[in-house]
Amino acid sequence: MKLVLLPGDGIGPEIAAATRVVIEAAAARFGLTLEIEEDLAGHASLKKHGATVTPELLSRVRAADGLILGPTATFDFKDAARGEINPSMYFRKNLDLFANIRPSRTYAGVPNKVGDFDLVIVRENTEGFYTDRNMAQGDGEILVTPDVSIALRRITRHCCERIARSAFELAMTRRRRLTFVHKANVLKISDGMFLDICRAMAADYPEVETDDVLIDAMMAHVVRKPSRFDVIVTTNMYGDILSDLTAELSGSLGLGGSINAGAEHAMAQASHGSAPDIAGQDVANPMSLILSTAQLFDWFGSRSGDAAYVAAAAGIDKAIEACVGRGEATRDVGGRLGTGATGAAVAAAVAGL
Ligand code: ATP
Ligand code: MG
Repeated sequence: MKLVLLPGDGIGPEIAAATRVVIEAAAARFGLTLEIEEDLAGHASLKKHGATVTPELLSRVRAADGLILGPTATFDFKDAARGEINPSMYFRKNLDLFANIRPSRTYAGVPNKVGDFDLVIVRENTEGFYTDRNMAQGDGEILVTPDVSIALRRITRHCCERIARSAFELAMTRRRRLTFVHKANVLKISDGMFLDICRAMAADYPEVETDDVLIDAMMAHVVRKPSRFDVIVTTNMYGDILSDLTAELSGSLGLGGSINAGAEHAMAQASHGSAPDIAGQDVANPMSLILSTAQLFDWFGSRSGDAAYVAAAAGIDKAIEACVGRGEATRDVGGRLGTGATGAAVAAAVAGL
């Protein structure tokens, strides 16, 4: 498997280095032929190439089997004309990575206030409120006058159908429960379309039990009793916000892994951002990016039929669970190690499987 690894900004280089150690251990343990190409994205790329992400890099990513994108400082990137492009959005859009799959689960040994749960958020990734932000096409936000701004939100049948399909298929591999999250009582046309499509598709999956919950009420439900949820499907911005909440409820944002998948490509990416407040201190939890990479292995293995990658993904999950349980983890999840030492501990656990 040919991988492109882009460490990114803030805590990115630290968690990417720890992730690399773990995937190299997984390659040795599970007999994977990995080729890892490391490159720049974000501030480092802006400095060297005049843009946070370049078309040349996109071509290299297209030619690879998967991308690992570290967090980038999206807040700093405002002017696409000056090369300040949001790399995450750039890859999502150009590779049509329409499904952002964000699992959240609790781990034995990590304190949590809400009881055990294991759920997956399936977030639409290519439209909604986040369409074309900073992409210079102008159909995202508009400054009408210096005092009036408008944000447009596009919802299409095509994108609703493909994200709903992904969510139903995922639910079939899990506990067969799917919750549609929306605000169709207010956004009657756009969220109404999303909800109608989800409901209609339920006829194709009679084994899947479905329900729907308003996004605001959903915040209360996941805090009150997250164990009632299995798979959750929702539009772009709701999914973004909800998944930060569920990751934190599971113990820490630092456990929030995710994959962005399309028909041809996939990108592993932590759910959190570049966390500039803790960058360079060797305290960031690398498990988010490690778990994301495990998801990428699972995606690649399932698609290519190479069972070694599926086994490696399960192995990495198991190693994380063991390390977290023994306190061989960063302090955000109650552990006593730094970022680098956590990577080494997970790698050792993978080697010892
Ligand atoms: P960005 O603008 O890049 O999204 P942010 O300021 O929103 O950055 P996040 O990365 O979203 O920051 O993080 C929010 C908070 O969660 C941070 O204050 C950080 O301390 C904590 N956090 C995020 N990721 C991790 C991690 N991997 N390990 C430990 N703590 C984390
Ligand atoms: Mg953030």
